[in-house]
Amino acid sequence: MVSLNNKAVIPTKYELDSGFKFRCHPGISCFTRCCRNIEVLLTPYDVVRMKNRLGLSSTEFLARYTRYQEDEKTTHPLAFLKMNEDGERLCPFVDEKEGCRIYEDRPAACRYYPVGQATHRVAGEKPDEAVHDEFYVIVKEEHCRGFEEDRQWTIREWREDQEAARADEFNREWKNIMMKQNIPRDDEDRERRQKMFYLASYDLDAFRRFVLESRFLEIFDVAPEKHQKIRDDELELMYFAFDYIKYMLGIAQEVRLKPHVAEERRRAVEQVKAREEAERAARVAAASAEEEPKG
Ligand code: SF4
Ligand code: SF4
Repeated sequence: MVSLNNKAVIPTKYELDSGFKFRCHPGISCFTRCCRNIEVLLTPYDVVRMKNRLGLSSTEFLARYTRYQEDEKTTHPLAFLKMNEDGERLCPFVDEKEGCRIYEDRPAACRYYPVGQATHRVAGEKPDEAVHDEFYVIVKEEHCRGFEEDRQWTIREWREDQEAARADEFNREWKNIMMKQNIPRDDEDRERRQKMFYLASYDLDAFRRFVLESRFLEIFDVAPEKHQKIRDDELELMYFAFDYIKYMLGIAQEVRLKPHVAEERRRAVEQVKAREEAERAARVAAASAEEEPKG
């Protein structure tokens, strides 16, 4: 998502059938003005589309075109499109005459613009069942002349026309994970979780190696027919990566340990607990012995 210029957001909640007037085209006087000095949050599916378009591995794409930022509230590790480091902070993919050089594979946030998509959690039917409600806003920036053009849309039509609805299908599960579970700042295992979250979200080529070339398949119960799919099909790999993130954050168990590994880990945890309990009892006994009156 483009992080929205809040001052330009019209304070109205738009639904799918809400209408707005807008047209953007190469002849317009503000052409490409919106492709500078912005923050574009990338989704895993965005990275797949863009790195394939550019013929790069995910690792190369992330290093060249993104910057890392930890979300302040949730501590999720996020990748943003890295703007050029000149005064204008131009997007590296913009050609001021031709427009977006990766137009067919542009990120979902760019597809939506000047519509902004928002999701918030609302109470579900059962007390522990939150539902994610999607709604939209219009971002009307001063420089954007598209609102003066005479073309009427509903949000639904705009999403279809820009293929944002299709991108949403691939992005929804990842967004749901983000809404469901933070990585708490005081989590002792936070750094490892952040590292794995980032790897599984964005660096799919490295995540594939992690699954297929480490001890992963000795530890996790992954059906043999799934190995080939993970190897050959990037979107299968992406959905598997989402399942892994859900396992790691304790949201769901579609990825699970092999039974003997789970049993070994359960025993190891019990042993640590028993040892800690014995040490605590010994300390208490030693302290009371010291306090006993002498003579
Ligand atoms: S009309 Fe708006 S969206 Fe289109 S190029 Fe101009 S500023 Fe960008
Ligand atoms: S990716 Fe394309 S549409 Fe998005 S900001 Fe860059 S040039 Fe503009």
